[in-house]
Amino acid sequence: MNSVQNVWDAVYQKIHDAYSPTAANTWFAGAQPLVMNSKQFKLQVPSDFQKEIILSRFYEQLSAIFESVIGFPIEIVIFSEEEQEERKRIAERIVDYTDITRHSLSQDDYTFENFIVGGSNKLAEAACRAVANHTEDSFNPLFIYGGSGLGKTHLLCAIRNSVRTKNPGMKILYLKGDDFTNEMVEAISQGVAARRAFREKYRYLDMLLIDDIQFIGGKESTQEEFFHTFNTLYEGKKQIVLTSDRPPKEIKTLEERLRTRFEWGLIADIQPPDVETRIAILNRKAQDLGVELTPEVADFIAQRLKKNIRQLEGAIKKLKALVILDHVEVNLTSAQTAIRDVLSDNVTVPMLIDRVLKEVSSYFSLTIDDLCSKKRSADIASARQIAMYLIREMADVSLAQIGDVFGGRDHTTVLHSVNKVEDEMETNPSLKRDVEEILHNVKAAGEEN
Ligand code: ADP
Ligand code: MG
Repeated sequence: MNSVQNVWDAVYQKIHDAYSPTAANTWFAGAQPLVMNSKQFKLQVPSDFQKEIILSRFYEQLSAIFESVIGFPIEIVIFSEEEQEERKRIAERIVDYTDITRHSLSQDDYTFENFIVGGSNKLAEAACRAVANHTEDSFNPLFIYGGSGLGKTHLLCAIRNSVRTKNPGMKILYLKGDDFTNEMVEAISQGVAARRAFREKYRYLDMLLIDDIQFIGGKESTQEEFFHTFNTLYEGKKQIVLTSDRPPKEIKTLEERLRTRFEWGLIADIQPPDVETRIAILNRKAQDLGVELTPEVADFIAQRLKKNIRQLEGAIKKLKALVILDHVEVNLTSAQTAIRDVLSDNVTVPMLIDRVLKEVSSYFSLTIDDLCSKKRSADIASARQIAMYLIREMADVSLAQIGDVFGGRDHTTVLHSVNKVEDEMETNPSLKRDVEEILHNVKAAGEEN
Protein backbone atom coordinates (compact mmCIF):
# COMPACT_ATOMS: atom_id res chain seq x y z
CA MET A 1 0.00 0.00 0.00
CA ASN A 2 2.12 2.89 -1.14
CA SER A 3 0.39 5.54 -3.13
CA VAL A 4 -1.65 8.20 -1.43
CA GLN A 5 -4.56 7.32 -3.64
CA ASN A 6 -4.47 3.65 -2.61
CA VAL A 7 -4.51 4.58 1.04
CA TRP A 8 -7.40 6.91 0.49
CA ASP A 9 -9.36 4.34 -1.53
CA ALA A 10 -9.04 1.84 1.29
CA VAL A 11 -9.98 4.42 3.88
CA TYR A 12 -12.92 5.55 1.80
CA GLN A 13 -14.16 1.99 1.57
CA LYS A 14 -14.00 1.68 5.35
CA ILE A 15 -15.82 4.93 5.77
CA HIS A 16 -18.62 3.47 3.74
CA ASP A 17 -18.63 0.41 5.93
CA ALA A 18 -18.69 2.48 9.10
CA TYR A 19 -21.26 5.13 8.30
CA SER A 20 -24.60 5.36 6.62
CA PRO A 21 -24.30 5.80 2.84
CA THR A 22 -25.84 9.25 3.13
CA ALA A 23 -23.29 10.42 5.67
CA ALA A 24 -20.38 8.96 3.76
CA ASN A 25 -21.58 10.35 0.43
CA THR A 26 -22.51 13.72 1.77
CA TRP A 27 -19.52 14.53 3.91
CA PHE A 28 -16.76 12.77 2.04
CA ALA A 29 -17.95 13.49 -1.48
CA GLY A 30 -15.29 15.13 -3.59
CA ALA A 31 -12.57 14.53 -1.01
CA GLN A 32 -9.17 14.28 -2.58
CA PRO A 33 -5.99 12.97 -1.04
CA LEU A 34 -3.12 15.41 -1.48
CA VAL A 35 0.04 14.11 0.11
CA MET A 36 1.16 11.70 2.73
CA ASN A 37 4.37 11.35 4.67
CA SER A 38 5.26 9.46 7.80
CA LYS A 39 3.49 12.02 9.95
CA GLN A 40 0.65 13.54 8.02
CA PHE A 41 -2.01 12.76 5.54
CA LYS A 42 -3.40 15.80 3.79
CA LEU A 43 -6.90 15.65 2.48
CA GLN A 44 -8.74 18.27 0.53
CA VAL A 45 -12.52 18.62 0.60
CA PRO A 46 -14.63 21.01 -1.49
CA SER A 47 -16.11 23.28 1.16
CA ASP A 48 -15.34 24.83 4.52
CA PHE A 49 -18.56 23.38 5.80
CA GLN A 50 -17.56 19.83 4.92
CA LYS A 51 -14.25 20.38 6.62
CA GLU A 52 -15.93 21.59 9.79
CA ILE A 53 -18.27 18.63 9.88
CA ILE A 54 -15.52 16.11 9.30
CA LEU A 55 -13.41 17.68 12.01
CA SER A 56 -16.19 17.93 14.52
CA ARG A 57 -18.04 14.65 13.89
CA PHE A 58 -15.78 12.18 12.21
CA TYR A 59 -12.25 13.04 13.17
CA GLU A 60 -11.63 10.45 15.87
CA GLN A 61 -13.08 7.60 13.94
CA LEU A 62 -11.36 8.71 10.78
CA SER A 63 -8.04 8.62 12.63
CA ALA A 64 -8.76 5.08 13.75
CA ILE A 65 -9.63 4.03 10.21
CA PHE A 66 -6.41 5.54 8.87
CA GLU A 67 -4.40 3.74 11.51
CA SER A 68 -6.02 0.45 10.68
CA VAL A 69 -5.25 0.93 7.00
CA ILE A 70 -1.64 2.07 7.21
CA GLY A 71 -0.64 0.40 10.44
CA PHE A 72 0.50 3.44 12.39
CA PRO A 73 -1.16 6.57 13.68
CA ILE A 74 -1.04 9.57 11.43
CA GLU A 75 -2.24 13.13 11.65
CA ILE A 76 -4.98 13.93 9.23
CA VAL A 77 -4.83 17.48 8.00
CA ILE A 78 -7.89 18.68 6.17
CA PHE A 79 -8.01 21.62 3.82
CA SER A 80 -11.01 22.97 2.07
CA GLU A 81 -10.84 24.11 -1.52
CA GLU A 82 -12.28 27.44 -0.49
CA GLU A 83 -9.52 27.88 2.01
CA GLN A 84 -6.87 26.83 -0.49
CA GLU A 85 -8.19 29.38 -2.94
CA GLU A 86 -8.14 32.04 -0.29
CA ARG A 87 -4.59 31.16 0.69
CA LYS A 88 -3.49 31.23 -2.88
CA ARG A 89 -5.12 34.57 -3.40
CA ILE A 90 -3.51 35.98 -0.29
CA ALA A 91 -0.14 34.52 -1.18
CA GLU A 92 -0.27 36.05 -4.64
CA ARG A 93 -1.34 39.32 -3.23
CA ILE A 94 1.46 39.33 -0.69
CA VAL A 95 3.98 38.61 -3.42
CA ASP A 96 2.54 41.49 -5.40
CA TYR A 97 2.67 43.82 -2.46
CA THR A 98 6.20 42.84 -1.66
CA ASP A 99 7.20 43.43 -5.22
CA ILE A 100 5.71 46.85 -5.29
CA THR A 101 7.03 47.94 -1.97
CA ARG A 102 10.41 46.31 -2.34
CA HIS A 103 12.25 49.52 -2.91
CA SER A 104 11.20 50.66 0.54
CA LEU A 105 14.03 52.08 2.55
CA SER A 106 16.77 49.88 3.90
CA GLN A 107 18.74 50.81 7.00
CA ASP A 108 21.36 52.51 4.87
CA ASP A 109 18.72 54.89 3.60
CA TYR A 110 17.67 56.06 7.05
CA THR A 111 19.27 59.46 7.27
CA PHE A 112 18.73 62.77 9.04
CA GLU A 113 17.83 64.28 5.68
CA ASN A 114 14.78 62.09 5.26
CA PHE A 115 13.72 62.22 8.88
CA ILE A 116 10.85 64.62 9.32
CA VAL A 117 11.02 66.69 12.46
CA GLY A 118 8.04 67.84 14.45
CA GLY A 119 7.24 68.68 18.04
CA SER A 120 6.99 65.03 19.01
CA ASN A 121 10.50 64.03 17.98
CA LYS A 122 12.57 67.19 17.83
CA LEU A 123 14.42 66.70 21.09
CA ALA A 124 15.40 63.17 20.13
CA GLU A 125 16.42 64.28 16.65
CA ALA A 126 18.51 67.18 17.92
CA ALA A 127 20.24 64.97 20.45
CA CYS A 128 21.06 62.40 17.79
CA ARG A 129 22.46 65.06 15.48
CA ALA A 130 24.60 66.46 18.27
CA VAL A 131 25.95 63.01 18.97
CA ALA A 132 26.63 62.36 15.29
CA ASN A 133 28.52 65.66 15.05
CA HIS A 134 30.35 65.15 18.36
CA THR A 135 29.22 68.56 19.46
CA GLU A 136 28.03 67.38 22.83
CA ASP A 137 29.69 65.05 25.27
CA SER A 138 27.23 65.35 28.08
CA PHE A 139 24.70 63.25 26.18
CA ASN A 140 26.42 60.06 27.15
CA PRO A 141 24.74 57.70 27.12
CA LEU A 142 21.96 59.00 24.93
CA PHE A 143 18.83 57.02 25.66
CA ILE A 144 15.94 57.36 23.21
CA TYR A 145 12.62 55.76 23.98
CA GLY A 146 9.20 55.70 22.41
CA GLY A 147 6.45 53.50 21.01
CA SER A 148 6.78 51.23 18.07
CA GLY A 149 7.09 52.75 14.61
CA LEU A 150 8.02 56.23 15.80
CA GLY A 151 11.48 56.44 14.29
CA LYS A 152 13.96 55.12 16.88
CA THR A 153 15.67 52.76 14.50
CA HIS A 154 15.62 55.43 11.82
CA LEU A 155 17.45 57.89 14.09
CA LEU A 156 20.00 55.36 15.25
CA CYS A 157 20.82 54.42 11.67
CA ALA A 158 20.97 58.11 10.77
CA ILE A 159 23.70 58.56 13.37
CA ARG A 160 25.62 55.64 11.97
CA ASN A 161 25.26 56.73 8.36
CA SER A 162 26.23 60.29 9.15
CA VAL A 163 29.30 59.29 11.16
CA ARG A 164 30.39 56.84 8.50
CA THR A 165 30.24 59.49 5.81
CA LYS A 166 32.01 62.18 7.76
CA ASN A 167 34.38 60.06 9.70
CA PRO A 168 35.06 56.79 7.90
CA GLY A 169 37.89 55.87 10.27
CA MET A 170 35.68 55.76 13.33
CA LYS A 171 34.83 52.35 14.72
CA ILE A 172 31.10 52.46 15.11
CA LEU A 173 28.82 49.53 15.69
CA TYR A 174 25.06 49.31 15.38
CA LEU A 175 23.22 46.28 16.65
CA LYS A 176 19.96 45.10 18.11
CA GLY A 177 19.71 44.30 21.81
CA ASP A 178 18.94 40.66 21.23
CA ASP A 179 21.86 40.28 18.82
CA PHE A 180 24.18 41.34 21.62
CA THR A 181 22.71 38.57 23.74
CA ASN A 182 22.92 35.99 20.97
CA GLU A 183 26.52 36.80 20.19
CA MET A 184 27.44 36.63 23.80
CA VAL A 185 25.75 33.30 24.37
CA GLU A 186 27.60 31.97 21.38
CA ALA A 187 30.93 33.35 22.57
CA ILE A 188 30.48 31.81 26.00
CA SER A 189 29.72 28.43 24.51
CA GLN A 190 32.91 28.57 22.44
CA GLY A 191 35.25 29.08 25.32
CA VAL A 192 37.65 31.59 26.75
CA ALA A 193 39.26 32.82 23.53
CA ALA A 194 35.91 33.53 21.89
CA ARG A 195 34.75 35.35 24.95
CA ARG A 196 37.86 37.48 24.97
CA ALA A 197 37.40 38.29 21.28
CA PHE A 198 33.82 39.28 22.02
CA ARG A 199 34.99 41.67 24.73
CA GLU A 200 37.68 43.21 22.58
CA LYS A 201 35.28 43.79 19.77
CA TYR A 202 33.07 45.94 21.95
CA ARG A 203 35.65 47.58 24.10
CA TYR A 204 37.69 49.09 21.33
CA LEU A 205 34.78 50.81 19.66
CA ASP A 206 34.48 54.56 19.25
CA MET A 207 30.72 54.50 19.28
CA LEU A 208 28.19 51.86 20.22
CA LEU A 209 24.57 52.02 19.09
CA ILE A 210 22.18 49.45 20.52
CA ASP A 211 18.64 49.31 19.24
CA ASP A 212 15.92 47.89 21.48
CA ILE A 213 18.08 47.52 24.55
CA GLN A 214 15.00 46.40 26.51
CA PHE A 215 15.72 42.91 25.18
CA ILE A 216 18.57 42.46 27.62
CA GLY A 217 16.09 42.69 30.49
CA GLY A 218 16.05 39.46 32.47
CA LYS A 219 19.20 38.07 30.87
CA GLU A 220 21.73 38.05 33.65
CA SER A 221 24.98 37.13 32.01
CA THR A 222 24.28 39.48 29.12
CA GLN A 223 23.67 42.30 31.55
CA GLU A 224 26.84 41.46 33.41
CA GLU A 225 28.87 41.58 30.20
CA PHE A 226 27.15 44.71 29.01
CA PHE A 227 27.84 46.39 32.32
CA HIS A 228 31.58 45.99 31.78
CA THR A 229 31.39 47.03 28.15
CA PHE A 230 29.44 50.08 29.14
CA ASN A 231 31.94 51.10 31.81
CA THR A 232 34.94 50.68 29.56
CA LEU A 233 33.42 52.73 26.76
CA TYR A 234 32.07 55.33 29.12
CA GLU A 235 35.36 55.81 30.91
CA GLY A 236 37.09 56.12 27.56
CA LYS A 237 34.60 58.88 26.71
CA LYS A 238 33.17 56.85 23.86
CA GLN A 239 29.63 57.60 22.85
CA ILE A 240 26.87 55.11 23.63
CA VAL A 241 23.36 55.47 22.21
CA LEU A 242 20.54 53.20 23.27
CA THR A 243 16.93 52.95 22.20
CA SER A 244 14.07 51.23 23.91
CA ASP A 245 10.31 51.01 23.73
CA ARG A 246 10.13 52.36 27.29
CA PRO A 247 12.23 54.39 29.74
CA PRO A 248 14.91 52.65 31.81
CA LYS A 249 12.85 52.61 34.96
CA GLU A 250 10.15 50.62 33.19
CA ILE A 251 12.41 47.93 31.83
CA LYS A 252 11.56 45.19 34.24
CA THR A 253 14.32 42.88 35.34
CA LEU A 254 17.00 45.35 34.39
CA GLU A 255 19.75 45.40 36.99
CA GLU A 256 19.77 48.52 39.11
CA ARG A 257 23.38 49.39 38.26
CA LEU A 258 22.55 49.38 34.55
CA ARG A 259 19.37 51.32 35.06
CA THR A 260 21.20 54.11 36.84
CA ARG A 261 23.87 54.17 34.17
CA PHE A 262 21.27 54.48 31.46
CA GLU A 263 20.04 57.55 33.27
CA TRP A 264 23.43 59.24 33.51
CA GLY A 265 23.29 61.05 30.20
CA LEU A 266 20.29 62.35 28.30
CA ILE A 267 16.96 60.61 28.08
CA ALA A 268 14.83 61.78 25.15
CA ASP A 269 11.42 60.44 24.32
CA ILE A 270 9.61 60.31 21.00
CA GLN A 271 5.89 60.84 21.12
CA PRO A 272 3.31 60.07 18.45
CA PRO A 273 3.42 62.83 15.81
CA ASP A 274 0.95 65.71 15.74
CA VAL A 275 -1.30 66.16 12.76
CA GLU A 276 0.94 68.58 10.83
CA THR A 277 3.85 66.22 11.16
CA ARG A 278 1.69 63.31 10.07
CA ILE A 279 0.66 65.18 6.95
CA ALA A 280 4.24 66.18 6.23
CA ILE A 281 5.33 62.56 6.58
CA LEU A 282 2.53 61.33 4.32
CA ASN A 283 3.42 63.82 1.62
CA ARG A 284 7.07 62.97 1.81
CA LYS A 285 6.51 59.21 1.65
CA ALA A 286 4.03 59.65 -1.20
CA GLN A 287 6.57 61.64 -3.10
CA ASP A 288 9.24 59.00 -2.49
CA LEU A 289 6.95 56.23 -3.71
CA GLY A 290 5.52 58.17 -6.63
CA VAL A 291 1.95 58.31 -5.33
CA GLU A 292 -0.04 61.45 -6.01
CA LEU A 293 -1.82 62.53 -2.86
CA THR A 294 -4.36 65.29 -2.73
CA PRO A 295 -4.45 67.41 0.44
CA GLU A 296 -7.89 65.98 1.10
CA VAL A 297 -6.62 62.39 1.05
CA ALA A 298 -3.53 63.24 3.12
CA ASP A 299 -5.72 64.86 5.71
CA PHE A 300 -8.13 61.94 5.71
CA ILE A 301 -5.32 59.46 6.40
CA ALA A 302 -3.65 61.71 8.95
CA GLN A 303 -6.88 61.98 10.92
CA ARG A 304 -7.19 58.24 11.14
CA LEU A 305 -3.66 56.95 11.66
CA LYS A 306 -2.28 58.76 14.65
CA LYS A 307 0.02 56.61 16.64
CA ASN A 308 2.56 55.13 14.39
CA ILE A 309 4.67 56.45 11.53
CA ARG A 310 5.24 52.99 10.17
CA GLN A 311 1.49 52.84 9.63
CA LEU A 312 1.48 56.11 7.75
CA GLU A 313 4.16 54.74 5.51
CA GLY A 314 2.23 51.49 5.24
CA ALA A 315 -0.89 53.31 4.11
CA ILE A 316 0.98 54.98 1.26
CA LYS A 317 2.46 51.66 0.19
CA LYS A 318 -0.98 50.06 0.25
CA LEU A 319 -2.38 52.91 -1.78
CA LYS A 320 0.30 52.41 -4.33
CA ALA A 321 -0.43 48.70 -4.45
CA LEU A 322 -4.14 49.40 -4.93
CA VAL A 323 -3.45 51.82 -7.72
CA ILE A 324 -1.23 49.36 -9.53
CA LEU A 325 -3.03 46.09 -8.83
CA ASP A 326 -6.63 47.12 -8.71
CA HIS A 327 -6.35 50.13 -11.00
CA VAL A 328 -8.14 52.42 -8.59
CA GLU A 329 -7.64 56.14 -8.27
CA VAL A 330 -6.21 57.78 -5.21
CA ASN A 331 -9.30 59.10 -3.47
CA LEU A 332 -11.07 58.81 -0.15
CA THR A 333 -12.47 55.38 -0.95
CA SER A 334 -9.14 53.82 -1.84
CA ALA A 335 -7.54 55.64 1.10
CA GLN A 336 -10.08 54.05 3.38
CA THR A 337 -9.28 50.60 2.03
CA ALA A 338 -5.58 51.25 2.51
CA ILE A 339 -6.14 52.38 6.07
CA ARG A 340 -8.25 49.37 6.85
CA ASP A 341 -5.55 47.09 5.50
CA VAL A 342 -2.91 48.81 7.56
CA LEU A 343 -4.96 48.69 10.73
CA SER A 344 -5.69 45.03 10.35
CA ASP A 345 -1.93 44.97 9.80
CA ASN A 346 -2.56 42.89 6.70
CA VAL A 347 -1.60 39.92 8.78
CA THR A 348 -3.49 36.90 7.64
CA VAL A 349 -4.34 34.30 10.22
CA PRO A 350 -1.95 31.74 8.74
CA MET A 351 0.87 34.31 8.84
CA LEU A 352 0.15 35.11 12.46
CA ILE A 353 0.00 31.47 13.41
CA ASP A 354 3.31 30.84 11.68
CA ARG A 355 4.85 33.68 13.59
CA VAL A 356 3.61 32.44 16.94
CA LEU A 357 4.91 28.95 16.21
CA LYS A 358 8.26 30.33 15.16
CA GLU A 359 8.69 32.60 18.16
CA VAL A 360 7.50 30.05 20.73
CA SER A 361 9.72 27.32 19.32
CA SER A 362 12.78 29.51 19.19
CA TYR A 363 12.14 30.91 22.67
CA PHE A 364 12.08 27.42 24.12
CA SER A 365 14.71 26.01 21.73
CA LEU A 366 12.28 23.51 20.21
CA THR A 367 11.34 22.84 16.63
CA ILE A 368 7.98 23.75 15.15
CA ASP A 369 7.49 20.08 14.41
CA ASP A 370 7.90 19.32 18.12
CA LEU A 371 5.37 21.94 18.96
CA CYS A 372 2.79 20.57 16.54
CA SER A 373 3.55 16.94 17.32
CA LYS A 374 1.84 14.60 19.72
CA LYS A 375 4.87 14.53 21.99
CA ARG A 376 3.97 14.90 25.63
CA SER A 377 7.20 15.68 27.40
CA ALA A 378 6.67 18.45 29.94
CA ASP A 379 8.68 21.15 28.21
CA ILE A 380 7.09 20.57 24.83
CA ALA A 381 3.60 20.32 26.30
CA SER A 382 3.96 23.56 28.18
CA ALA A 383 5.41 25.43 25.18
CA ARG A 384 2.53 24.06 23.11
CA GLN A 385 0.01 25.38 25.61
CA ILE A 386 1.60 28.80 25.47
CA ALA A 387 1.45 28.73 21.68
CA MET A 388 -2.24 27.82 21.80
CA TYR A 389 -2.88 30.61 24.26
CA LEU A 390 -1.07 33.18 22.12
CA ILE A 391 -2.83 32.16 18.93
CA ARG A 392 -6.14 32.43 20.73
CA GLU A 393 -5.17 35.86 22.07
CA MET A 394 -3.88 37.26 18.82
CA ALA A 395 -5.91 35.71 16.04
CA ASP A 396 -9.57 35.50 15.37
CA VAL A 397 -9.76 31.73 15.11
CA SER A 398 -11.92 29.06 16.65
CA LEU A 399 -10.65 26.57 19.19
CA ALA A 400 -11.17 23.81 16.63
CA GLN A 401 -9.01 25.63 14.12
CA ILE A 402 -6.28 25.97 16.73
CA GLY A 403 -6.63 22.28 17.42
CA ASP A 404 -6.04 21.77 13.73
CA VAL A 405 -2.74 23.58 13.84
CA PHE A 406 -1.54 21.21 16.53
CA GLY A 407 -2.27 18.03 14.67
CA GLY A 408 -6.03 17.89 14.97
CA ARG A 409 -6.39 18.22 18.69
CA ASP A 410 -9.87 18.46 20.06
CA HIS A 411 -11.30 21.90 20.79
CA THR A 412 -11.76 21.01 24.46
CA THR A 413 -8.05 20.25 24.71
CA VAL A 414 -7.30 23.66 23.28
CA LEU A 415 -9.73 25.34 25.64
CA HIS A 416 -8.16 23.56 28.58
CA SER A 417 -4.68 24.71 27.52
CA VAL A 418 -5.73 28.29 27.00
CA ASN A 419 -7.44 28.45 30.39
CA LYS A 420 -4.53 26.80 32.09
CA VAL A 421 -2.03 29.34 30.77
CA GLU A 422 -4.38 32.15 31.65
CA ASP A 423 -4.79 30.91 35.24
CA GLU A 424 -1.15 30.15 35.77
CA MET A 425 -0.07 33.56 34.59
CA GLU A 426 -1.87 34.97 37.62
CA THR A 427 0.27 33.09 40.07
CA ASN A 428 3.47 32.37 38.20
CA PRO A 429 5.43 35.51 37.36
CA SER A 430 8.09 33.70 35.39
CA LEU A 431 5.49 32.16 33.10
CA LYS A 432 3.89 35.54 32.73
CA ARG A 433 7.21 37.02 31.73
CA ASP A 434 7.83 34.27 29.18
CA VAL A 435 4.42 34.82 27.63
CA GLU A 436 4.85 38.58 27.53
CA GLU A 437 8.27 38.31 26.02
CA ILE A 438 7.11 35.95 23.30
CA LEU A 439 4.12 38.17 22.61
CA HIS A 440 6.48 41.07 22.24
CA ASN A 441 8.68 39.07 19.87
CA VAL A 442 5.72 38.03 17.74
CA LYS A 443 4.65 41.64 17.43
CA ALA A 444 8.18 42.77 16.71
CA ALA A 445 8.47 40.10 14.01
CA GLY A 446 5.37 41.59 12.45
CA GLU A 447 6.80 45.04 12.45
CA GLU A 448 9.89 44.04 10.56
CA ASN A 449 7.81 43.40 7.47
P1 ADP B 1 10.87 52.28 15.64
O1 ADP B 1 12.28 51.80 15.57
O2 ADP B 1 10.69 53.39 16.61
O3 ADP B 1 9.88 51.19 15.86
P2 ADP B 1 11.35 52.95 12.89
O4 ADP B 1 12.55 53.81 13.03
O5 ADP B 1 11.56 51.58 12.39
O6 ADP B 1 10.51 52.92 14.24
O7 ADP B 1 10.32 53.74 11.96
C1 ADP B 1 9.26 53.09 11.27
C2 ADP B 1 9.16 53.63 9.87
O8 ADP B 1 8.70 54.97 9.92
C3 ADP B 1 10.49 53.66 9.17
O9 ADP B 1 10.33 53.29 7.82
C4 ADP B 1 10.95 55.10 9.28
O10 ADP B 1 11.72 55.50 8.18
C5 ADP B 1 9.64 55.84 9.32
N1 ADP B 1 9.74 57.05 10.14
C6 ADP B 1 9.63 57.13 11.48
N2 ADP B 1 9.75 58.40 11.90
C7 ADP B 1 9.93 59.13 10.79
C8 ADP B 1 10.11 60.54 10.56
N3 ADP B 1 10.11 61.41 11.56
N4 ADP B 1 10.28 60.94 9.29
C9 ADP B 1 10.26 60.07 8.27
N5 ADP B 1 10.09 58.75 8.41
C10 ADP B 1 9.92 58.27 9.66
MG1 MG C 1 13.05 49.90 15.81
